[in-house]
Amino acid sequence: MQGLMQEWPLLCHKILDHAARQHGEREVVTRSIEGPIVRQTYAQLRSRALKVAQQLQRDGYGLGDRIATLAWNTARHLEAWYGINGIGAVYHTLNPRLFPDQIAWIMNHAEDKLLFVDLTFVPLAEKILPQVPSVKKVIVFTDAAHMPQTTLPGAVAYEDWLAQADGDFQWLALDENTASGMCYTSGTTGDPKGVVYSHRSNVLHAMMAVQPDAMGLSSRDAVMPVVPMFHANAWGLAQSAPMVGAKMVMPGGKLDGESVYELLDTEKVSCTAAVPTVWLMLLQYLESSGKKLHYLKRVIIGGSACPRAMTEKFERDFGVEVIHAWGMTEMSPLGSLCTMKPQHANLAGDALLDVKQKQGFAPFGVEMKVTDDDNNELPWDGKTFGRLKVRGPAVARAYYGGAGYEQFDDENWFDTGDVAHIDENGYMQVTDRAKDVIKSGGEWISTIELENLAVGHPDVAEAAVIGVRHPKWDERPLLVVVPKPGKQPDKQELLNFLEGKVAKWWLPDDVAFVDEIPHTATGKIQKTTLREQFRQYQLPTA
Ligand code: AMP
Repeated sequence: MQGLMQEWPLLCHKILDHAARQHGEREVVTRSIEGPIVRQTYAQLRSRALKVAQQLQRDGYGLGDRIATLAWNTARHLEAWYGINGIGAVYHTLNPRLFPDQIAWIMNHAEDKLLFVDLTFVPLAEKILPQVPSVKKVIVFTDAAHMPQTTLPGAVAYEDWLAQADGDFQWLALDENTASGMCYTSGTTGDPKGVVYSHRSNVLHAMMAVQPDAMGLSSRDAVMPVVPMFHANAWGLAQSAPMVGAKMVMPGGKLDGESVYELLDTEKVSCTAAVPTVWLMLLQYLESSGKKLHYLKRVIIGGSACPRAMTEKFERDFGVEVIHAWGMTEMSPLGSLCTMKPQHANLAGDALLDVKQKQGFAPFGVEMKVTDDDNNELPWDGKTFGRLKVRGPAVARAYYGGAGYEQFDDENWFDTGDVAHIDENGYMQVTDRAKDVIKSGGEWISTIELENLAVGHPDVAEAAVIGVRHPKWDERPLLVVVPKPGKQPDKQELLNFLEGKVAKWWLPDDVAFVDEIPHTATGKIQKTTLREQFRQYQLPTA
């Protein structure tokens, strides 16, 4: 027997319809690339998205066409996503922090047909597009007054292009499994791999994200996605914030501590999200300026492990709740969030921080397990670690073009490449990337745990731990440290600081000081480069 309920396809543009109807006056505020703060409402944003869709269709784009964007978080970028989706085309975000050749490779692989680009990235696009013959037209997110001289093919100012449409348009009726968006993984090894979101997966993911035990979003929130729309689908915020009618604050291209602070305060942001590097800059600004966070209630931190000292600072010094989150481009991207369960109600101080160090538990819609190398499931005891595998309706079942098929098994479990353990309460903690874990005498040492402890030292700005070849133990940990400006920490003192906090045999064999640690285009420590840099390093114990 079948249920007798309606077929109501889960389509992204229905989210914007809902936002415009129920929360039409709520604002989407942007720090524009041209400079001034620009204010719009959801009702206006929907009207403009309809014009985007109408114009795209008039220009001959349609179902399944990949339309690239090389842009910061702005209302224009957001309405373009919805307009693209409204004709069944696919938004394809490009990460401007990649090398031009890599971006060209990705665009050719996706066979992009059109590019929306911010003023900031016009010079970058001019370098890339001669290598991408499939792109015949470029729309620059600006108006005629700010339109630069450019060699870009078929370049037109967005506002001029949009002004040709009257907005008398109806979204296409689509199957909910139609592709909606595309994002390539960073590919630290091998070629980048394309993840293809569907309308259905984006809508279900947004419903997961807004739940009270996840991001807990509502129409009473003002949400600032500092995490760029080009990084892992903006953590779903482009869909989840409009779904609940939260005010949105789009920071444009200025992500330094002072600029982020200014928007948090003037726009009364209650919830924000980004990688730890961004929050490091904000906290440094707060420290040097003596400013306070008057309105911020929650900060969602993920993309790489949130250092304990960061959680402590936000929560104790500024009264802001930290929600540590873990996810992947392949998971739309949320996989787990560290909000508290009733069993933690009486925890305080260090015991509470111990839990908040974990990446948290999976919301409904994400299944999770850890296995050994032979695919045997490991117990949820908070210490036995193994390969972390996931599945769910917003988890990829394949990469575009069939790359990386070995990461997916017959039962749809996706091997994340992360090493983790899960505790009795279901809280997962990432201990490493499988390729970064240090194998010392056959036992595993978690580099993330050592790094987290090291950045707790008052003189340490950033820390990375890598395995260095050792004649007896195969590999031993080396701690690489960027000192805080003006500080010169002592090697032995740093090692003493770690002592007693981890098993004795986990303690690094040496400490190296550097001016800078290399990062990937999504802000993660680039361990491959670092390992290469220290390949010949002689440990004192070797
Ligand atoms: P991306 O797809 O670029 O977001 O990268 C996903 C990877 O980032 C994951 O597989 C993890 O290795 C890492 N990652 C994301 N969030 C966290 C976190 N909270 N703690 C540790 N690693 C994380």
